[in-house]
Amino acid sequence: MIEDKNQQRTQLSDLGEFGLIDHLTKNFKINHSSTIKGIGDDAAVLNFKKQVVVTTDLLVEGVHFDLSYMPLKHLGYKSVIVNLSDVYAMNATATQVTISIAVSNRFPLEAIEAIYAGIETAAKIYNIDVIGGDTTSSNKGLLISVTAIGEVDENGVVYRNGAKPNDLLVVSGDIGAAYMGLQVLEREKEVYKVNPNNQPDLEPYTYIIERQLKPEARKDIVKLLSDLDVKPTSMIDISDGLSSEIMHLCTQSKVGCDLYENKLPLDPQVISTCEEFNIDSTTVALNGGEDYELLFTISQDDYPKIKANPNLSVIGFIKEEKEGMHLITRADTKIPIKAQGWKNFND
Ligand code: ADP
Ligand code: MG
Repeated sequence: MIEDKNQQRTQLSDLGEFGLIDHLTKNFKINHSSTIKGIGDDAAVLNFKKQVVVTTDLLVEGVHFDLSYMPLKHLGYKSVIVNLSDVYAMNATATQVTISIAVSNRFPLEAIEAIYAGIETAAKIYNIDVIGGDTTSSNKGLLISVTAIGEVDENGVVYRNGAKPNDLLVVSGDIGAAYMGLQVLEREKEVYKVNPNNQPDLEPYTYIIERQLKPEARKDIVKLLSDLDVKPTSMIDISDGLSSEIMHLCTQSKVGCDLYENKLPLDPQVISTCEEFNIDSTTVALNGGEDYELLFTISQDDYPKIKANPNLSVIGFIKEEKEGMHLITRADTKIPIKAQGWKNFND
C-alpha cells in the first residue's frame, strides 16, 4: 500500500517536473508508422492514411478508484485499458495514447513509477505508442486522464446507431464479474478496518477480482470479427452495465429489442458469489458495469460465421422501435429494460 512506511519514498520535488517526465517516459518506444513525433516536443505529430478515432476518459481517486485495494500498477494498466476499449468499440485499431496525471505530494516517486509500470505493460501488450501527456500537481488525491487514438478504414467504422430490426444482439466474453469482484474487495476492506491482522482467503474469487482490478480490452474480438468477415451493424463497449449499453444502442439506432435472461453469459464464480451475497445474478449481469466486453448487433445472415465461437454469445434480437426494449425472463415473462446503473459503482 502506498502509505507503507517501509517503502522507499523519493519526494517528487527532488526530481523537478522535467526530471520526472523524463524519468517516467524514457522507456517508451515508438512502433507505429503513424507516429511521426512522440514525447519531447510541444506536441506530438501524427500522420494517418485512414480515419482517426479519438477518445478520452478521466479517472478520479475516490470516485473511480480506491487505492486501499487498487494497486497503483493495476491503476495505470486499467487507465489505458478503459480507453482502448472505446477505440475497439468503434471497430478501430488503437495506435497511440497520451497520459495526463495530477498528483498531490502525498505520492512519492515510487508510486508514480508503479502507475507508469502498468501503463507501460498495457502499451506493450496492446501495441500502443505513448506519445505525450501532461504532469501537474493536485492539492489532494490523484487524477489520471488518458486519451487514446486509433485508426479505421472509412467503411470499417462501426457506430452505435446502425442496428436494424431482426439483427442479432451479441456480447463477447462474460458479464457481471467486475461488479462482483468489487463487492468482494469492498467487503474485505471493511473486514480489514475491523481487524487488520485478518488475512482474507481470496482464492475463490480470483477471476472476479482480476476482472475488477485488471480488466482487458477486446482487441481480439475486433480481429476475430474481421477474420470472420463480420461487420457489426452497431457496437458499444460495456462500461456502465449491459442494460444501459443496450439502451444506448437501441435509442441511437431507433429500434427495440428482446433480451433473453437465459442467454446471459455468466462465469460460475459470478453465480456462486451472487449466491453468497444474496444478489440476483441477472441484476448483476444487467447493471454491474466495468466489464469492458463488446456488445454489438449483426445481420442474421452472419450468424453461421459466429455461432460456433465460444467468445461470443447471442443474447437477443433487435425489434421495431415501437415494440420497446424487453428482458424475456426464464419464466417467459416480458419486463421492460431499465438502466439502473448502481451509482456507488461508477459513472
Ligand atoms: P509543455 O510545457 O509544452 O506542456 P511538458 O513539459 O508538459 O510540455 O511536456 C514535455 C513533453 O513530455 C511533451 O511531449 C509531453 O507530451 C510529454 N509529457 C508530459 N507529461 C507526460 C506524462 N505524464 N506522460 C507522458 N508524456 C508526458
Ligand atoms: Mg505540459
